[in-house]
Amino acid sequence: SADSALFHAKDSGRNTLCFYHSGLTIQVRERLELENDLRRALARNEMQLFFQPQIHLHSGEVIGAEALIRWQHSERGLISPDRFIHIAEENGFIVELGEWIMRQACMTALQLNRDRSNPLVISVNLSPRQFADPEISAMVLQALSDTGCHPHWIELEITEGILMDRRYDVMKSLQDLKEPGISIAIDDFGTGYSSLGYLTRFPIDTLKIDQSFVSQMLESQQSAVLIRTIISMASSLSMHTIAEGVETSEQAYKLATMGCEQAQGFYYGRPMSITQFERYLQRQTNFKPIS
Ligand code: C2E
Ligand code: MG
Ligand code: MG
Ligand code: MG
Repeated sequence: SADSALFHAKDSGRNTLCFYHSGLTIQVRERLELENDLRRALARNEMQLFFQPQIHLHSGEVIGAEALIRWQHSERGLISPDRFIHIAEENGFIVELGEWIMRQACMTALQLNRDRSNPLVISVNLSPRQFADPEISAMVLQALSDTGCHPHWIELEITEGILMDRRYDVMKSLQDLKEPGISIAIDDFGTGYSSLGYLTRFPIDTLKIDQSFVSQMLESQQSAVLIRTIISMASSLSMHTIAEGVETSEQAYKLATMGCEQAQGFYYGRPMSITQFERYLQRQTNFKPIS
């Protein structure tokens, strides 16, 4: 182990700085390797979009899915987005990756909605760094028109932080996206900035209640109060609410009675491949309505 190696190094009177140094080098090398591999991942077909069902609480109907990226690395196996999205943001690769994700999501929406009377909405995560690109809205609209995807079939998830970022003209980008009918959701709502003024200034359709509140809502009165407040605020502002990270029927029930409209989480389904998601839809297992 690292500890025993350190102990050994001290013991033998060697320079421990050298040990730390080599440890750092391994980390840096790993990071450089990931970064290099990331640039090749698309060409190597190692990226895949997974889909996690989103459910209308009262009817129990599946109304859409969130697109979540997965990287199946040839040697390292599955790498979670939490491990590589920030690298892609730092080195700018997110712009290329983001475009790929957008196109995949559009094609999926088209495929899923081909024979549906009530179209599903695919939610796509946008990184803050993608807004540094003034062409972000043009990129999204181009993906829609190239694939033939209807703007109503796409929702974009952004974080609170991006609305406060004065480096980019986020307002202009969001207006250009809203105009043809794309909807906008605030992801991980409640974990970011406390200033709420932006909620009325920006064209926002949906608040996604962060999973940290949902996971504690049954035990912590504070989390329950926070969720209630978010739902009531959303309702006053004519916004939709979706709870993330719903893992039990008890949570789903309580959220529904609190007036939350939609839910997403392991209780309804884990993120899955498009093939699995199509099968999931075919099973037509409408969840028990809660009213
Ligand atoms: P997020 O957008 O907040 O996504 C929700 C995360 O919670 C997902 O993790 C999902 O798998 C996980 N999750 C869903 N239901 C449950 C549940 O019931 N319990 C628990 N414990 N977890 C649940 P994932 O897929 O690892 O994604 C992590 C983050 O990486 C995402 O957080 C998002 O910020 C980012 N990300 C994922 N895909 C993309 C993408 O295509 N583009 C960008 N820019 N970011 C992405
Ligand atoms: Mg999200
Ligand atoms: Mg989230
Ligand atoms: Mg998150």
